[in-house]
Amino acid sequence: MISEEEARRRIFEGIQCLSSRRLPISQALGCFAAEHYFASLPLPAFDNSAMDGYAVVASSCKRGQRLRVTGEQPAGRDRQLSISPGEAVRIFTGAPLPRGADAIVMQEDVTRDDAEIVVNTDVSVGEFVRRRGCDLSEGQKILATGEQIGAATLALLASQGFTEVMVGGEVKSAIVSTGDELVKPGEKLEPGQIYESNSALLQALLQRCGTSVQSVQYCPDTWDSVTGVLERGMQHHVLIISGGVSVGEHDLVQSALRALGASIDIWRVAIKPGKPFLFGRFGQCAVFGLPGNPVSAFVTFLQFVRPAILKMMGATKLDLPEAPAKLTADLINDSDRPHYVRGKLEDRKFTPVGRQESHALFGLSQSNALLRVAVGESFKAGEIVDIQLLD
Ligand code: AMP
Ligand code: MG
Repeated sequence: MISEEEARRRIFEGIQCLSSRRLPISQALGCFAAEHYFASLPLPAFDNSAMDGYAVVASSCKRGQRLRVTGEQPAGRDRQLSISPGEAVRIFTGAPLPRGADAIVMQEDVTRDDAEIVVNTDVSVGEFVRRRGCDLSEGQKILATGEQIGAATLALLASQGFTEVMVGGEVKSAIVSTGDELVKPGEKLEPGQIYESNSALLQALLQRCGTSVQSVQYCPDTWDSVTGVLERGMQHHVLIISGGVSVGEHDLVQSALRALGASIDIWRVAIKPGKPFLFGRFGQCAVFGLPGNPVSAFVTFLQFVRPAILKMMGATKLDLPEAPAKLTADLINDSDRPHYVRGKLEDRKFTPVGRQESHALFGLSQSNALLRVAVGESFKAGEIVDIQLLD
């Protein structure tokens, strides 16, 4: 049995970034940038008005002041207007500021009187003016290699005129669920059988990582079916196997992988739940064997598979996000493995949920955070702990 750190080290050692690709902006949400991007335009690109109103010279514009309206500046075409003290230009949101103007008076704060306005407010320099470059300077980095691209970043790229972005490669994955006792949801359940639920779990987790799940297979614990589906599954970048990785007579995964020529780099990790975890390689394929118990599959996926996939996709931040929370119950880990306690984070408080056992899927479904309790570690209710966020 090896430690989690050793397991992560061995997994990352064998994981390469996939080749990057160019994607239209509209398809790049959630991808990781494959190069740095810099601003070629400042934001705003020119001094402009933040309001519909009147451009004025602040020093000539006291409350009650009458000003002559000398022109109109709409958004979209710079009329190259200029104004002097005592004058105003009708202006609209986003329109370029006339030369000489240094403030905007909102239209709600003036009374229009034919070709003149009366200003009904005090005006100070810079009011409702958006200065060129005040948000973003030319040459400033807008996206770093390995950073995840969110909706606002897509908008920022578009604001710079980009139509495409270089991102990390697409990870193609396959899932194999093994077990004689498993029945597909929708089919008739016989005594002793259970519905197969890990495919749904793993598919969702893989999708949330941004991988393309290309194959979901179920197979009973027979040599021919196990070797058949594993062989096909290993044609992908990532193969996730659920169940059959232990040492019982019906656990055929390890020997089948070996027979197919895969190397087994990890077998058993000190983690609770999830000890019977397997990692191997077959050519370009990273093979993860997860324990069949749903909570074990969930926890090992998040601690080992997710970061590996993110690395393949070119991400730099591989760990789950963390946040401090106040613990609502005493906790102690007197086992021989670090324990990932499932719980609910609400109002910055973390409460362990349900039976902390590896089959307890309902409790897991009520959880939105994990707390790692190291071997021998204990916490008292009220303590602030760092938890891993699941949503
Ligand atoms: P195994 O890892 O194959 O020994 O399975 C451990 C436990 O997880 C057993 O109780 C199995 O019935 C259960 N299990 C295995 N695979 C699945 C699955 N795909 N969906 C739900 N439960 C499963
Ligand atoms: Mg099994």
